[in-house]
Amino acid sequence: MLALQGDFREHAAMFAASGATALLVRTPEDLAAVDLLAIPGGESTTIAKLARDHGLVDPIRRRASEGMPILGTCAGMIVMSKRIEDGEPLLSLLDVTVRRNAYGRQVDSFEADVEVKGMGSVRAVFIRAPVISELGPAVEVLGEHGGQPVLVRQGKLMAAAFHPEIAGDKRLHERLLAMADEPRDRG
Ligand code: GLN
Repeated sequence: MLALQGDFREHAAMFAASGATALLVRTPEDLAAVDLLAIPGGESTTIAKLARDHGLVDPIRRRASEGMPILGTCAGMIVMSKRIEDGEPLLSLLDVTVRRNAYGRQVDSFEADVEVKGMGSVRAVFIRAPVISELGPAVEVLGEHGGQPVLVRQGKLMAAAFHPEIAGDKRLHERLLAMADEPRDRG
């Protein structure tokens, strides 16, 4: 997991529960040691600042172009996106536009069941969640909530507006682990 800020410990718990060894990534050297990456929820502007300070932006982009699977949740999805309404993108990997904190004050946080393609119902925790306002042609929607896409995949990149790691659902992490074993062109 990218372990700069946010709920990376919850991601570590999901990987451990899936039988994987979870490593904390804080430097380019750490990144070189992992097969895949989870980018946690938290505060996207803080994660972006720290990732720049730690010299991680180009190394992550390079690994992604080489086929490393990445799962981003909530703030993690925001930093993976190519376009952020009223904001600057960080990794520019996922061909979507996101609007931060888009669910409004009164429903800042809520839980819901999201029907995920090929997986069934996933318990989703939304905390000041972003909305995907635009999808590029290569982006597949894997799950929706209230008519909005909330889980998407583009090749070996997967991003959720919600937190499966807080709900304790490890199936998205298991799917990411499976992607690490898939040949690159199938991803
Ligand atoms: N609202 C946060 C942001 O814009 C994301 C919240 C979260 O990760 N739960 O970065």
